[in-house]
Amino acid sequence: MQHGPMDVGRFMALCLGHPVHGYYMKQDPFGASGDFTTAPEVSQMFGEMLGVWVCDLWTQMGSPDPFYLVECGPGRGTLMADLLRACGGVPGFVDACSLHMIEMSPVLKDLQAKALKPCDVRWHETLNSVPDDAPLFIIGNEFLDALPFRQLVKIENGWAERVIALEGDAFVFGLKSTALSTDIKAKTDDVIEVSPARSAFVSQGCDLIQRAGGAALFLDYGYVKSAAGDTFQALKGHEPISPLTHVGDADLTSHVDFEATGRAALDAGAQIFGPQEQGAFLRALGIDVRAQALLQKADDKQAQNIQSGLHRLTHCDEMGALFKVIGFTYDDRLHPAGFSKK
Ligand code: SAH
Repeated sequence: MQHGPMDVGRFMALCLGHPVHGYYMKQDPFGASGDFTTAPEVSQMFGEMLGVWVCDLWTQMGSPDPFYLVECGPGRGTLMADLLRACGGVPGFVDACSLHMIEMSPVLKDLQAKALKPCDVRWHETLNSVPDDAPLFIIGNEFLDALPFRQLVKIENGWAERVIALEGDAFVFGLKSTALSTDIKAKTDDVIEVSPARSAFVSQGCDLIQRAGGAALFLDYGYVKSAAGDTFQALKGHEPISPLTHVGDADLTSHVDFEATGRAALDAGAQIFGPQEQGAFLRALGIDVRAQALLQKADDKQAQNIQSGLHRLTHCDEMGALFKVIGFTYDDRLHPAGFSKK
């Protein structure tokens, strides 16, 4: 703050990623004792269904060996562990695969290494160092929402940018003039969110699969059409709190604008699939059949967990509708599973 007010994106990047004080740099945020619970932590079926998605595409591509599986923001490594177990029965898949993780948190890297032992995992800070000499599948669950975004506020004669300033020892919101603008329709005082960082990430992921072959898949909470709305959100102990308190000790996110995300991929020349609701996506991949198979061998407590996990992942009042899925490829011959036909 020595340099005056900062935009929401800079504030978010520091709160989450500061090498010493950043939220993700210090702790494991997941689970009942943490701040939030994600789909892979709800049920093993989530990672298993993403395994079905990747295996199907890998088979459509003629089972390339080697290939790279790239996960963005793998959390505790649960999704990848479930995915690899589910694909274990597909001849050649696991042997052909090498794992690359985009992760900034040293705490979570350790947990990922433990969850994925004895697999050989390589970690990267960004997509820059991911190899492109073999086909790759890029996946990310609740990753795009963690990337910095900025907030524009409609004022009478144009746009201002929302900034965060220090007043005494408290953070407060303010406004600053800006060169940024948007075509999204808004009334005075409406907030519009833009995320150049997210678009750049998607575009870079697309460039990689264009060069190397393969596909990308992102799942997150968000909205299908760009629209006004303030979705800046902080979670601590599973409760929403003000993003300006508990700095570095709460998870900060925004809802993903899937129209903007899709546009970034189209601008990079990719074909896009979705966005589609997570419930419909998981059902199309066979999550109900998987749940039935698990239920056959389950005791009463396990059966309850399977049923409640299925409900949470797919029901429209839970994660089924709020969460969306979007996929990208460059190859006309590939038909990513799980998306309804256009
Ligand atoms: N995919 C996991 C975790 C989601 S939380 C799950 O579904 O459970 C977000 C993850 O992205 C964490 O692993 C966090 O450390 C990582 N992350 C957030 N911002 C990042 C950034 N800018 N660069 C690299 N990793 C990031």
